[in-house]
Amino acid sequence: MENFGNFSTMEKKPVLCLNCGEPIKKGRSDKKFCDSACKDEYYNSRKSDEHQDIKKVDLTIKKNRRILKKLLGNQSEIIVKKDSLLEQGFKFDYHTHHVISKLKGNEFIFCYDYGYHKTPDGQFKIVKGFMKR
Ligand SMILES: [Zn+2]
Repeated sequence: MENFGNFSTMEKKPVLCLNCGEPIKKGRSDKKFCDSACKDEYYNSRKSDEHQDIKKVDLTIKKNRRILKKLLGNQSEIIVKKDSLLEQGFKFDYHTHHVISKLKGNEFIFCYDYGYHKTPDGQFKIVKGFMKR
């Protein structure tokens, strides 16, 4: 009955900064951010839709690269069915660049250092490399 004083400190939950998630220091309880730097960062990153879009594309291409890498394994080239790529979540619209092979003039589509070429029978040849010689 006499220790009510202890409860009063529990009533106020610390307010967490919306940007970094740290508790906001005393005297700023009406604020949502620890300081103006955190506030700027928060609003800048939210405003930057462009950045978000780039990030999304980037992640998709990186995922494509992982799929190609996984399917290829240690081999120098491999031919897979389209379904094998689709099953893994491969997105054909996303890639980094095209390379025309010197040997046969085939067009390879690359996700960074892994590329693929659609064979005449509708399968996909996966290769690693030919960046520069
Ligand atoms: Zn902060």
